[in-house]
Amino acid sequence: MFVDIVKIRVQAGRGGDGAVSFHREKYVAAGGPDGGDGGRGGNVVFLADNHMSSLMDFRYTRKYVAGNGENGRGARCYGKSGKDVVVKVPRGTLIREAKSGALIKDLSDNEPFIVAHGGRGGWGNSHFANAQRQVPRFAHPGLPGEEFELILELKLLADVGLIGFPNVGKSTLLSVISAARPKIANYHFTTLVPNLGVVAVDETTSFVAADIPGLIEGAGEGAGLGHYFLRHVERCRLLLHLVDVSGIEGRDPIEDFETINRELAVYSEALSKRPQIVVANKTDMIQDEEAFHRFRAYIEELGLPYFEISAATTAGVREVVRAAAQKLSELPPVIVFESEYVPPVIDEGASREVEITVEEGVYYVEGTWLERLIQSTNFTDYESRMFFDKTLREAGVYDKLEEMGISEGDTVDVEGYQFDYVV
Ligand code: GDP
Ligand code: MG
Repeated sequence: MFVDIVKIRVQAGRGGDGAVSFHREKYVAAGGPDGGDGGRGGNVVFLADNHMSSLMDFRYTRKYVAGNGENGRGARCYGKSGKDVVVKVPRGTLIREAKSGALIKDLSDNEPFIVAHGGRGGWGNSHFANAQRQVPRFAHPGLPGEEFELILELKLLADVGLIGFPNVGKSTLLSVISAARPKIANYHFTTLVPNLGVVAVDETTSFVAADIPGLIEGAGEGAGLGHYFLRHVERCRLLLHLVDVSGIEGRDPIEDFETINRELAVYSEALSKRPQIVVANKTDMIQDEEAFHRFRAYIEELGLPYFEISAATTAGVREVVRAAAQKLSELPPVIVFESEYVPPVIDEGASREVEITVEEGVYYVEGTWLERLIQSTNFTDYESRMFFDKTLREAGVYDKLEEMGISEGDTVDVEGYQFDYVV
């Protein structure tokens, strides 16, 4: 079975916790704080693999979890970072956020891409010592890693798409112009998986061609197999539109040609405007001369590039290959889709709520947004400290403390970070 769309879950690792520890050494009395930071959580990384051609493997493994960061230890020992998990996908896989369907990344190049970032490690207590607080008995916990539900959708990368009714000879043509060996048989819908083949034009030029399962009437509205597979020609720069002109199946080539074009238009307007080369096939066994000539006249009237071949005897095939290569040299590169996913902004303005409790003269200030604020503040840096102070002021924390009767010199604890209150 060919699988080209799956839903999976990815979870990056949690950051390790910072350590609370104090330096101990023989003959040295109370040593300073030396708790190390926790390690970063592992990332979930995606990488395109040229040897994969479907998303089959993902039917069995649906969850990918990166390693957690190690906790920090004493003597300023940092925790080790968590192990990344690398997820290999076929080239041309679109990674979407499942809920919104927004495109996170079109994995069409060779660069590894981090989809879910590991959480930051928490600071050890060695960061929190200052003139007033020489014995910090707290450290910060690591932050959780990003977690996503994803939809992976494969849209093959090929320069040329072979399109046409079932049985017109698409697979046969691909097998004679490339080393691909698609299934060929004299009945409709033999091709149930798209096939890719590299077509060598000469020593320096080649292109990739894709043969997709036959389009049938109503395919554009999802009536048949064709619609399902049309996504694989969406990125093709050029379409080779094959038509059986032999008349052996009793169909009219002009009608066939127009039906397929209508299907393309229903599926996507962009696809219907993609440049086409019309290829009249099975000219070795023409049964209806009149229909064949009418078709030729019809296409010439439209002014489209037109070739007559026999995929079976390979007559005329080289000319089509050369014309396709020539046309491709004038066309823009394969379409790569732009990312559209915007990570949700944590609306700190709206959620800046705090809860303040007093215990034994210490004012404990709590709120989820404060954890983040603390993590992003570097308390050894003046500007960073001023920003921290300003944020608390603007969120009304100091007003609340005043209301509760705080006085100069009292201790304030913001999510574990303690300082003396100065008016
Ligand atoms: P597809 O469904 O478009 O992929 O068509 P296939 O490549 O599977 O071919 C369908 C049938 O047509 C097979 O029996 C082929 O052998 C036959 N066929 C393909 N091309 C030619 C041709 O140029 N001449 C003749 N006589 N038969 C052909
Ligand atoms: Mg086929």
